[in-house]
Amino acid sequence: MNKKYFISLSIAAALTIGSLPTLATTASANSSVEDLKKQQDDVSSKKEEINGKISEKNSQIDQTINKQKDLESQIAEISTKLKDTETKIAEKTKEIDETTAKINKLKADIEELKKKIEERNELLKERARAIQEKGGSANYLDVLLGAESFGDFINRVTAVNTIVSADKKIMDEQKRDQEELEKKQAEVEKELADLESSKANLESLKKDLDSQKAKKAELFKQLEAQQATLKVEKADLEKESDELSKMEHQLEGEIQAEQARLAELARQREIERKRQAEAEAAKRAAAQQQATASSSGGSSSAAAPSAPVSAGAWTAPARGTITTNFGWDVLNGERRFHYGTDIAARGSVPISAAADGYVIKSHYSSSYGNVVYITHSINGQMYTTVYAHMSSSLVSTGQAVNKGDQIGYMGNTGFSFGQHLHFELYRGSWSASHSNAVNPRQYINF
Ligand SMILES: [Zn+2]
Repeated sequence: MNKKYFISLSIAAALTIGSLPTLATTASANSSVEDLKKQQDDVSSKKEEINGKISEKNSQIDQTINKQKDLESQIAEISTKLKDTETKIAEKTKEIDETTAKINKLKADIEELKKKIEERNELLKERARAIQEKGGSANYLDVLLGAESFGDFINRVTAVNTIVSADKKIMDEQKRDQEELEKKQAEVEKELADLESSKANLESLKKDLDSQKAKKAELFKQLEAQQATLKVEKADLEKESDELSKMEHQLEGEIQAEQARLAELARQREIERKRQAEAEAAKRAAAQQQATASSSGGSSSAAAPSAPVSAGAWTAPARGTITTNFGWDVLNGERRFHYGTDIAARGSVPISAAADGYVIKSHYSSSYGNVVYITHSINGQMYTTVYAHMSSSLVSTGQAVNKGDQIGYMGNTGFSFGQHLHFELYRGSWSASHSNAVNPRQYINF
């Protein structure tokens, strides 16, 4: 079918489209869905990050709890040692008291003996004086020499001996007792010194244990404070995570609403487009009739023929040779995935719309060069086609096109090596990741 009327048709379509929500809005709405999805991705990854931090806090809290448990058992151990030490100190104190009492008793006994010895000494002196007074002499010998008779002498000797030896014996015994007591006192005093030194040791041990216990208790308190801080931080993170979840859901809702709005818009445009196509077809038929009537065989078509238009929903976008198919291939020595079909031909080669639809973008990009994006709605499925590297585009954003309408000329603009059409087909919308790209050969016979 001859496509020479495409320009007037496109202009008419574009004018009528003005009554509908503008396609510029639609194009930005398409990108607004992408924007929303990107926002949602950002929120999700932020939330993941926060959740990671929450589990980190949890393990930190567990660590402080374990440390506290450790400390509790250490404190219990120290307390047991302390109790034991306190008992020992009490025992030592009691022993010291007892020993001190013993020493005091010994001292008293010694004093008592000294007194007795002193008394005995006095007694002896008195006796000696009595004997001296009787005999007029200071010593026993005088007493003895003063005997008046042998009998008297014997009596005197016996008396002196008895007195002296009895007193001497008592005094010797008392002296021995005193020495023994003094020896015992020395021993007990040594015992007391030992007791006092071991009590001092125990007291220093107790002091040490007390300070250890205090340090551990302080550490426990610090861990408690640390734990409280961690719990607050965790609660903050959980709150943040909840808020991010809410945002995620909200964005999900917005995306769905936006997609529904776009689908409805596309449906309305399709209805409008069909209505216009019918009107244009009628107009065109009338014009053609007039043309054939006025001049017979005046050909004013383009320099090169467009690709023949196939029956059905789809047609090839250009005539030429398929140079690269959809799939893996090698470009400049590097393996890459080719998301479209390349068609090459020499000369001035027209590019046509692969199906009925709307131009959603016609612009220049450094990679695609002059490129046109067309959206199609076929049996309720949305498709997007992309025509890249064109030498020039003949359509503009918002324009309605019919299958086979010329949209530009094959070229070598953008990232291209030799004149060809790089053609992409998407089930759904175009994205930079090409996630919806399909092999055009599934739909089109080139
Ligand atoms: Zn290509």
